[in-house]
Amino acid sequence: MAIKESEAFVLMTYPLAEADKIAVLFTHHYGKIRAVARGARRPKSRFGACLEPLSEILASLFEKEGRELAVLRRCELLCSPFERAATPEGEVFLHHVAELVDAFQPPAEPHPAVYRLIRATRDTFLQGASLPALAAYFEMWMLKLGGFFASLEACAACGRAFRPEEPVWIARDGTPRCERCGGTLGGHVISAGYRPLLAEMLKRPPSEWVALPTPEEALHLHRLLTRLLRDVLERELRTKLSLGV
Ligand SMILES: [Zn+2]
Repeated sequence: MAIKESEAFVLMTYPLAEADKIAVLFTHHYGKIRAVARGARRPKSRFGACLEPLSEILASLFEKEGRELAVLRRCELLCSPFERAATPEGEVFLHHVAELVDAFQPPAEPHPAVYRLIRATRDTFLQGASLPALAAYFEMWMLKLGGFFASLEACAACGRAFRPEEPVWIARDGTPRCERCGGTLGGHVISAGYRPLLAEMLKRPPSEWVALPTPEEALHLHRLLTRLLRDVLERELRTKLSLGV
């Protein structure tokens, strides 16, 4: 038996029996944890807005050895971006971020860099950033922290360094290829014009990067990265941003 306390982002909840919910949390110190929130489906639940997608909470969890589900004993709301999402697209964006964290993070493995990424993305969201740009930034970094895009400098098959003016193919396993090694495999092509934007993404915080691309460029990158994520995860994403320009 153990009591665990940690800051955590709520990823999603599922109904459990009549009055309870299962909350999927990405905690700072313990990674992803599934926990029962007793009474959370009741109208005047003590959990209130704590369990909205991407709410950041201070969670007190009780874990019993051999049990798959922890119990969320208490939580304190630190920040609820969902309550401040002014548009339906804003709400979908928060679900999208939560879905990707859930898809990439295995249970019980802390990943402080992912936690910092979510926090920086949330803060930039609250500043009213362009959603296609912020979505592209988050998607790129989830792939990067998941081990993809180790380098965009050289072909993963033949080792040749890319010239600045040439397009780069991303193979289905996420590795970069030159035209000769990857061009015939299908996959996803990053045209030469987009490579500097991707390189800047890996150097700048989201609050700075979202100001760089034009709306069309941001949307193009978001669509490209969404297709890549679909290949990597081998399924369609549940959340789809219908982002106009
Ligand atoms: Zn090559």
